[in-house]
Amino acid sequence: MRSTARVVVIGGGIAGCSALYHLTQEGWTDVMLLERNELTSGTTWHSAAQVTNFGMNQTMVGLKSHSIKLYKELSEDPEYPINYHHADGGIRLANTQAQMDGYRHFASMARGMDVEFEVIDAKECARRHPLLATDNLVGGLWDPMDGDIDPAQLCQALARRARKAGAEVHRNTPVTALKQQADDSWIVSTPKGDVHAEIIVNACGYRVNEVGAMMGVHHPVASMEHQYFLTEEIPAIKEAGHRMPLIRCPISDYYSRQEKNGLLVGFYEQDCKTWGMDGIDPNFVNALCPDDLERVTDVLEGAMERMPALAEVGIHTVVNGPITYTIDGAPLVGSIPGKRNAFCIIGLRAGLGEGGGHGWLLAQQIVHGESCYDTWCIDPRRFTGHCNVELTALKAIEDYQNEFRFHFPHEHRPAGRPMKTTPLTPILAAEGAEFGVVNGWERMDYINPSRDFTETHGFRFNETFDVIAEEVRAVQNSVGLTEVSGFNRFEMTGTDVHSFLDRMFCGRVTKKAGRVGLGYMLNHHGMVKSEATIANLPDGRVWYGSAAASEWHDMDWLEAHLEDDENVQIRSLTNEHTILVLAGPKARDVLSTVSRGDWSAQAFPWLSVREAFIGIAPAVVMAVSFSGELAYEIHVPNNQLYGAYLALRSAGEDYDLRLFGSRAVESMRLEKGYLHWKAEIQTEFDPFETGLRRFVKMDKDFVGKAALIERQASGVQKHLVTLSLETREAPAHGGASVTNAGQVVGTVTSGDWGHRTGLNLAMAYVSPEHALVGAALDVEVIGMNVPATVIATGPYDPENQRVKA
Ligand SMILES: Cc1cc2nc3c(=O)[nH]c(=O)nc-3n(C[C@H](O)[C@H](O)[C@H](O)COP(=O)(O)OP(=O)(O)OC[C@H]3O[C@@H](n4cnc5c(N)ncnc54)[C@H](O)[C@@H]3O)c2cc1C
Repeated sequence: MRSTARVVVIGGGIAGCSALYHLTQEGWTDVMLLERNELTSGTTWHSAAQVTNFGMNQTMVGLKSHSIKLYKELSEDPEYPINYHHADGGIRLANTQAQMDGYRHFASMARGMDVEFEVIDAKECARRHPLLATDNLVGGLWDPMDGDIDPAQLCQALARRARKAGAEVHRNTPVTALKQQADDSWIVSTPKGDVHAEIIVNACGYRVNEVGAMMGVHHPVASMEHQYFLTEEIPAIKEAGHRMPLIRCPISDYYSRQEKNGLLVGFYEQDCKTWGMDGIDPNFVNALCPDDLERVTDVLEGAMERMPALAEVGIHTVVNGPITYTIDGAPLVGSIPGKRNAFCIIGLRAGLGEGGGHGWLLAQQIVHGESCYDTWCIDPRRFTGHCNVELTALKAIEDYQNEFRFHFPHEHRPAGRPMKTTPLTPILAAEGAEFGVVNGWERMDYINPSRDFTETHGFRFNETFDVIAEEVRAVQNSVGLTEVSGFNRFEMTGTDVHSFLDRMFCGRVTKKAGRVGLGYMLNHHGMVKSEATIANLPDGRVWYGSAAASEWHDMDWLEAHLEDDENVQIRSLTNEHTILVLAGPKARDVLSTVSRGDWSAQAFPWLSVREAFIGIAPAVVMAVSFSGELAYEIHVPNNQLYGAYLALRSAGEDYDLRLFGSRAVESMRLEKGYLHWKAEIQTEFDPFETGLRRFVKMDKDFVGKAALIERQASGVQKHLVTLSLETREAPAHGGASVTNAGQVVGTVTSGDWGHRTGLNLAMAYVSPEHALVGAALDVEVIGMNVPATVIATGPYDPENQRVKA
């Protein structure tokens, strides 16, 4: 075994083998995989190994397409062919119209990635799968590429190709310690000796936290026991004359695929069980948990009703093994938070289907700093420290119990709540607030109009339409108050703060004390990485504000670019302060009532910042607006938040102050054309494509400038536009395809009803030839082809008179 390697991948399941292979494909061949036992001796060997193309967003669909393409190619390799049942087809069932709406949306989203799903009715489901009963079935989503693969052969094939390219694979070589060196490289210890690696990758499956502990990290990954069984031969399968499509059933929480002339049937039972919470037996290798079919009787009965043939056939094998989950069901693939030169590819609950794609995106991140898709949905930094063992287990259980039930828009499931709260959470709850969750924080969605009000989650406009309209009306006509919990906030101090920010941001950063500016950071490929508000407090401190979940992401990026001799200190205040937003034409009156000082437009114009008192609570007040009305962001330390809130409420009594929530904000920000990080702002687009030309100053140096110049030469590929849709039925949802004469020409990033403009608005990236104001296009909204027109972005108060009032 060599004693150095550029990258050491730890773990030889599908995750590690795929990462290793793809590193060699990206041109890094000085790479090594260390496996404690034999390849695939963790979860991978006993996987049901179904490979679907279905995903909840375009990144997931894209990476699964990569898996499918790669696996097909491997299966056809004449030197080392492997068993892959490619394109048997599969059906995801539905028993409600709301689920069917979802499938129509996901089909449209996939179309934008050149993946064709089909939404079919119950009769067609039964025609394609002769064992299905159609009672209580509405229809399903057909994935023509669905199939299954031999997991051990797949890993061997990847390892073989990696070895051929120069990589080393060492079996029976457990990693026992990890030590980071002063230059950020690593000493990887094994019983066979140490390896000095520039970069390490944790791909240790259910042992992820054993290896995490070696570097002082807890990864939010928990394991669940998961069972399937194999049946004896089923005559109808033999007689069908074609392979049975795969089935995934959210009604009875089971799946099935053909295995020889019988079925493999797996279950996601409600009475489910975590595994390995108190440590894992070191001898659990190539091993299974004890069978426990008793536990799955609830879902087994449903499966038998859906597939009566199951009741007639014997079971010859039961498999029960550990499967890993994170707190939102998506894996953790990318840079390990707070560490340098350390990556992970962990928490894979569908690792056989996804593993090819995850390894591909991870290798791109390691080699190029970023991958071809925006990988925020799998970024390990998307949770910021609140995901302890207990929470992770609760969310894993919830996710397991709902494996095939996708989240509806605005649906926030109950497990592990409340996670992060402010002193106002119970106060707002008592006022009738309905909460959503943003990076663990409870955030007010809207105020329930009555005690018995309930929202029916779905993809169409629902009961909340009039509720949100009322909240928007209050903000537009008088004044509203809302709380923005969990907003990311860094305090930056030191003599070099402004020169540092000037280098990091592609535009000019305001240096003037008392002023606020908005700026954008690019990555080394010239794509938009982050958006932040920079507020210069009069005493020289600088407050950097960005999206609620961006704390670890932005901190990593900023710290990685700090030079040794730069005098800049960055401290996170994210958990210490909360924002109260006062918005509406009467906002100044309310503020003037509770706070001494001159709050006139002359003394404190738009984009100003100052310290003040709200009653007796100290606050930093900024004249900025996300609603398009005159507004103030009031940042208050959490221990005085309630006092500030009471003072504002009491001052607001004379002005008919109403509470409003984040749904009203969403509607209003679309009317102003303001962007959301990771909806409109993505690493797949440069600032010109994102419509941020006025925030780019090419006459100065900044991170990403060289790449941006290179990109400019080839012209913009897409343009961010605003669309007005001709339907009152449903909003466009992020991911929906925009079409012209039936051809996909773009993708929606977000959509909602604009209550002040009376427009059904969406933002979308479209090809430049369709981006001109007035262009007539169609948007696919839950299966409807809705006519839409490109309109000027920010149709509400385009002159910004109201925010400057
Ligand atoms: C019953 C069941 C059915 C499933 N069905 C499907 C399916 O149909 N489709 C699908 O896509 N997914 C399925 N999955 C999930 C899928 O199998 C997993 O997501 C996948 O196998 C995880 O692979 P991995 O490489 O992350 O982990 P593992 O396969 O567990 O690999 C981790 C490796 O790391 C090694 N390791 C650990 N510690 C060390 C150390 N200190 N030093 C060196 N090496 C170490 C282990 O020995 C192991 O080989 C199923 C899972 C189960 C349990």
